[in-house]
Amino acid sequence: MSEVLDLAIIGGGPAGLTAGMYATRGGLKNVVMYEKGVVGGQITKSSEIENYPGITQVVSGLELMEKWPEQVMRFGLKYEMAEVVRVSKGSDNLFDILIEGEKNVKAKSVIVCTGSNPKKSGVEGEDEFYGKGVSFCATCDGFFYRNKEVAVLGGGDAALEEALFLTNICSKVYLIHRRNEFRASPATVQRVKKNSKIELVLNSTVEKIYGDISGVNGLIVADKDGGKRDLKVPGVFVFVGMKVNNEVLAQKNDSFLCEMSKNGEAVVDLDMKTSLKGLFAAGDIRINAAKQVVCAAGDGATAAINAINYLENLHE
Ligand code: FAD
Ligand code: NAP
Repeated sequence: MSEVLDLAIIGGGPAGLTAGMYATRGGLKNVVMYEKGVVGGQITKSSEIENYPGITQVVSGLELMEKWPEQVMRFGLKYEMAEVVRVSKGSDNLFDILIEGEKNVKAKSVIVCTGSNPKKSGVEGEDEFYGKGVSFCATCDGFFYRNKEVAVLGGGDAALEEALFLTNICSKVYLIHRRNEFRASPATVQRVKKNSKIELVLNSTVEKIYGDISGVNGLIVADKDGGKRDLKVPGVFVFVGMKVNNEVLAQKNDSFLCEMSKNGEAVVDLDMKTSLKGLFAAGDIRINAAKQVVCAAGDGATAAINAINYLENLHE
C-alpha cells in the first residue's frame, strides 16, 4: 500500500496554511496541503485589508499573504498544487482523498479548508459578459477601466470596500444596492457616503447587463417605484456574497461526509471537529464563520491542534 498521510489539508488559504504550520510545528511528519489555485486564498483578490492584527499599514491581500507560505513551510509542510475532487472514508478507517486525474491518497485525518467563492447575482448578461466587462475582482480588473465609469453591485463589506478602491482608478462608481441600508460595517458606509466619486443607486435592482461582441456597454437599473435608468458603463463589478466550497465533502450517494448546515457549511464544535471522527473543518467553510482572515487562521490552528490529539489517541 502507498504511504498513508498523517494529515491531509484541503485548501491553502489562511485556514489551510495556518493548519499546516501548527500541524508540522506540533510534530506531525507527513502532512500535505492541497491547493488548486493561488496559495493565500480569496483574500489575495482583495484590494486592501486593514484589520489583520499587527499590520499597521493598509496592504493588498496579495501583500498580506506573500510571506505566509515561506513561514508555514519551514516546519515540513508539503504542498501540492492539485484539486481535490472528493474526501471519503473507507472501511479501513482511513480517509480517501481523490485528487483530479483519479489519483487516490490515504490519510489518517483531514482538515477541510476550502473556503468560499463569490456568488453570482443571477442578473441577465452576467454570464454572457463575464470576463468581457463583468468582474468579481476589482484588484484584478479595475485597471481596465482607468478614468472610466463603472458600476458595483452589492451592499456588503466587499461591495463597499471594492467601490472605494475603484474610485482610485475610475472616474465614477455607481454603487447599486437593492435596499436602503447596508450590510457593510458602519465605518465603511461612512467612507462611501463621503466619497464624491461614488453615486449611490439604492432600492434598485439590475434588470440586465447589455453589450455587444466587444463587451459590456451598460446596464438597466430599476428602482422600487418602477423608474428605470440606463447606466452606460463598460465595467460591472459584482459583490453579492460568498458561497461555501463544500463540493469535496459531497459523496457519490448525494449525502455529505459529515453533518452540514442548511446553508451548506460544515457543522463543527469549538475544536473544529465535524460529526465524523478525524475530519475537521476550518475557516469560511465551517458553520458560523466570521469570514475574516484572522478567524480563518485561528480556526486552522485550532483544527491542527485537535488533529494532533486525535492522532495521538489513535496510536495509543
Ligand atoms: P479561502 O481564503 O477561501 O481559501 C480556500 C482555498 O481553498 C482557496 O485558495 C481555494 O483555491 C482552495 N480550494 C477550494 N476548493 C479546493 C479543492 N477542491 N481542492 C484544492 N483546493 C481547494 N477578511 C478580513 O479579515 N479582512 C478583510 O478586509 C477582508 N476583505 C475581503 C475582501 C474580499 C473582496 C473578499 C472576497 C474577502 C475578504 N475577506 C476579508 C474575507 C477573507 O478573505 C476570508 O474570510 C478568508 O480568506 C477565509 O479563509 P479560508 O482559508 O477559510 O478560505
Ligand atoms: P454579504 O455581507 O453577504 O453581502 C452581500 C450583499 O449583496 C448584501 O448587501 C445583499 O443584499 C446583496 N445581494 C445578495 N444577493 C444579491 C443579488 N442577487 N442581487 C443584488 N444584490 C444581492 O457579502 P460580502 O460583502 O461578500 O461579505 C462576505 C463576508 O466577508 C461577510 O461576512 C463580510 O463581513 C466579510 N468581509 C469582511 C471584510 C472586512 O472585514 N473588511 C471585507 C469583505 C468581506 P442584502 O443586504 O439586501 O441582503
